[in-house]
Amino acid sequence: MLHSLTPAQIAIRDKAAGAAKHIAKTIDAIDKQTGHSKEWWNALHAMEHAGLLRLYIPKEQGGEGCDVLSLVLAQEEMGKIDGGFSNIISHEACAYVIFTNLPDKKLRDHCLKRMSEGALTCIAITEPETGTDLAGMKTEARRDGDSWVISGHKRVASLAAAAGMYLVFAITDRSKGTRGISAFLVDQGTPGLSVGEVDELMGYRQLPPADVHLKDVRIPASQLLGEEGNGLNIFAQALNLGRLGGGTQALGVAQGAFELALEHAKTRKTFGKPLIEHQAIQFSLSEMAIQIEASRAMIYQVARWMQEHGDLSSRETGTYCAMVKSQASDMAMKVTIDAVQIFGSYGNYRSRGVERLMRDAKVTQLVDGPNEVMKMRIGHTLRRG
Ligand SMILES: Cc1cc2nc3c(=O)[nH]c(=O)nc-3n(C[C@H](O)[C@H](O)[C@H](O)COP(=O)(O)OP(=O)(O)OC[C@H]3O[C@@H](n4cnc5c(N)ncnc54)[C@H](O)[C@@H]3O)c2cc1C
Repeated sequence: MLHSLTPAQIAIRDKAAGAAKHIAKTIDAIDKQTGHSKEWWNALHAMEHAGLLRLYIPKEQGGEGCDVLSLVLAQEEMGKIDGGFSNIISHEACAYVIFTNLPDKKLRDHCLKRMSEGALTCIAITEPETGTDLAGMKTEARRDGDSWVISGHKRVASLAAAAGMYLVFAITDRSKGTRGISAFLVDQGTPGLSVGEVDELMGYRQLPPADVHLKDVRIPASQLLGEEGNGLNIFAQALNLGRLGGGTQALGVAQGAFELALEHAKTRKTFGKPLIEHQAIQFSLSEMAIQIEASRAMIYQVARWMQEHGDLSSRETGTYCAMVKSQASDMAMKVTIDAVQIFGSYGNYRSRGVERLMRDAKVTQLVDGPNEVMKMRIGHTLRRG
């Protein structure tokens, strides 16, 4: 391998590879179902058992205390099997970053304790009529004495039907646009909170989303996360880690599809010799290998840079993370399409697994912000210098 890794990083990578190998046995069956099936929960517990849901949590708080590159390595291994499960590793690390930065100790301790007890987090920002353009958010929270009362409707809320905690973003002052958005903790079971049916998806099926309905949900005033109007800043702390994750999931998905295609090319014969002996097939595989290695170099470098600078949230970090997410996801789309091609008609067979990775690759171009949003971020930096 081109990249030198520490023994601790290798250990995390191998743990993730072990969990991924275990999940690979049932991934086809899980993928054919919708939502949180028994097999889905078994896979999640395998990830939990391997420590993958608490990688970024410091050891003294019961986590693995790993660095950003280890987080990347774990997602890459899981991504070879499944983009959605790989995303959950990132999702939980992002939730930890949000919680650990909360200024209110009591709320911070509550959230971290719930996390350590195994409660998953659902981040509810997107709505039926607004995603990219958050100023159009309709969900509102109004102050009523010592409470906040929230009403609204959220969509594409990953893990909504499995979560124990909901981070709900709502307008508290419409006159201020996105600076009037605040974030709240709503615990599962709070009256007025309900979750719709899990949605049927093309890719990332193992990251099931559902609608979240809030009807006069009353929570204590202390469950406002940070300052009023600071909701998007709270989220921004985790955003870049999430985008690095999106790029890494794409890397894993591409590598997984490449390995399947390489194996197929070595065993399938046409015109009297294995596919790989045909130069056109060699060129296709070579092109995949080049593109994957280029993405890997970029992702590992950004992960190291974030770790060395202790910087998850600067404009520079945001720009690099947007670059890797955009570049790696476009790479994964191309690589997985080419991998399906090498399988010929078998590429279209669900049992071969390669079409599933192609479906996941498409979603890497959308997840953690669509690639247009990544280019807006990069363009903003280029304009302002
Ligand atoms: C796998 C996955 C998991 C997700 N999980 C969550 C979650 O847990 N919680 C949550 O709240 N949300 C989640 N989302 C939603 C996600 O954050 C939104 O999809 C995103 O904000 C974009 O919003 P939208 O889908 O409504 O697209 P729209 O805002 O309707 O945009 C449609 C398309 O137009 C493009 N576009 C929009 N405006 C412009 C412009 N000015 N210039 C150029 N192009 C533009 C967009 O990039 C997009 O491709 C998830 C999405 C995915 C794919």
